[in-house]
Amino acid sequence: MSTPIQQNNGVAASKTNTQPLWLLAEVTYRCPLHCAFCYNPTDYDKHTKNELSTEQWIQVLRDARKLGALQLGISGGEPLLRDDIEDIVAEASSLGYYTNLITSGVGLTEKRISAFKAGGLDHIQLSMHDITEEINNFITGTRTFELKKKVAAMIKEHGYPMVLNVVIHRFNIKHVKEILEMAEALGADFVELANTQYYGWSLVNRSQLMPTKEQIDEAEAITNAFREKVGNKMKIFFVVPDYFSNRPKKCMNGWGEVFMIVTANGDVLPCHSARVLPNMSFPNVKANGLKWAWEESPAFNQYRGDDWMKEPCRSCPEKEKDLGGCRCQAFLLSGDAEAADPVCTKSPHRHLIDEAIANAQNPYLQAQPILFRNDKNSRKLIEGENRELVEEFHALP
Ligand code: SF4
Ligand code: SF4
Repeated sequence: MSTPIQQNNGVAASKTNTQPLWLLAEVTYRCPLHCAFCYNPTDYDKHTKNELSTEQWIQVLRDARKLGALQLGISGGEPLLRDDIEDIVAEASSLGYYTNLITSGVGLTEKRISAFKAGGLDHIQLSMHDITEEINNFITGTRTFELKKKVAAMIKEHGYPMVLNVVIHRFNIKHVKEILEMAEALGADFVELANTQYYGWSLVNRSQLMPTKEQIDEAEAITNAFREKVGNKMKIFFVVPDYFSNRPKKCMNGWGEVFMIVTANGDVLPCHSARVLPNMSFPNVKANGLKWAWEESPAFNQYRGDDWMKEPCRSCPEKEKDLGGCRCQAFLLSGDAEAADPVCTKSPHRHLIDEAIANAQNPYLQAQPILFRNDKNSRKLIEGENRELVEEFHALP
């Protein structure tokens, strides 16, 4: 029996006419860095040995292009840990994608960047962490400070626009001005100051990472002043953290609307952390193919439109603006994937956000050891050790 198609916000509830304009290929979860704020799933170690092959990735690129994908992000983990990224880039370029390599810089050599240029890579986004070696090395659990500066220079020399991404947290927020000065000195064309959002490892380390509202306001004011000073020479984005807003963002521009992620093991997801959601089975390219995943799979249709909404979202006049916010954030914090995102001040769970903000000022919680993102800690979490750190957030499937 066919299911009637109901229209919601221009999106069908049981089928969709939208196309996945953005494809994010999380080609590996392996990473030489151990960032305390990493958004990768805490149980990523399950998927470090069952990665898609080069041929499977090439098939993914072809299938996604047929579905209408135009922008390709290649990320991880650290994508450069795979030695076939050159082949993936060359294929993507010949298919007509606009390609963006999202990297920590570790593994980017002259030889590889030349191959990327020859293969048609359009864009490289490099992560930076601080102006001090001490904080860079602490927050990433690696000695990568000097290397990142060298890689930044290499990217520039090869004629790429310099795009720096800096995740902002308690340890570097006081250095925003100096970080922007460093970016300017490196010749950056774009800088994204991305305040930490709390998913994956950053959620586990939330009380240790979260700055105060006053620090965020000050950092934003400094950024605005710097923007005025440099004008169009360097474009600066300051991404306001959800927790300090009154309304959530329209997550991924709407569930299953324009964005599709294929993970290292071939799972197809509407957003990075969707696998934390309960009672959902996500399609996998090895078994299902991308077309079915996008158009027909129950997972991609689950939160399309607004049929699934409960109060207060259901009758809210603002629902088309944010579609109730992020399903993962709703579940991770409230235990109910269909609740309003707790960031919203109309949500009955907003107190959870306010408590988290207050907890982040509790000296005892601030002083708790950070759980760095590494294979050993991921395995421990999978095996149930430290489970209390993630249970509170429903962070493990
Ligand atoms: S945030 Fe850090 S640890 Fe996580 S994938 Fe990126 S570089 Fe690796
Ligand atoms: S109640 Fe729901 S739809 Fe309304 S603003 Fe809040 S999150 Fe958005």
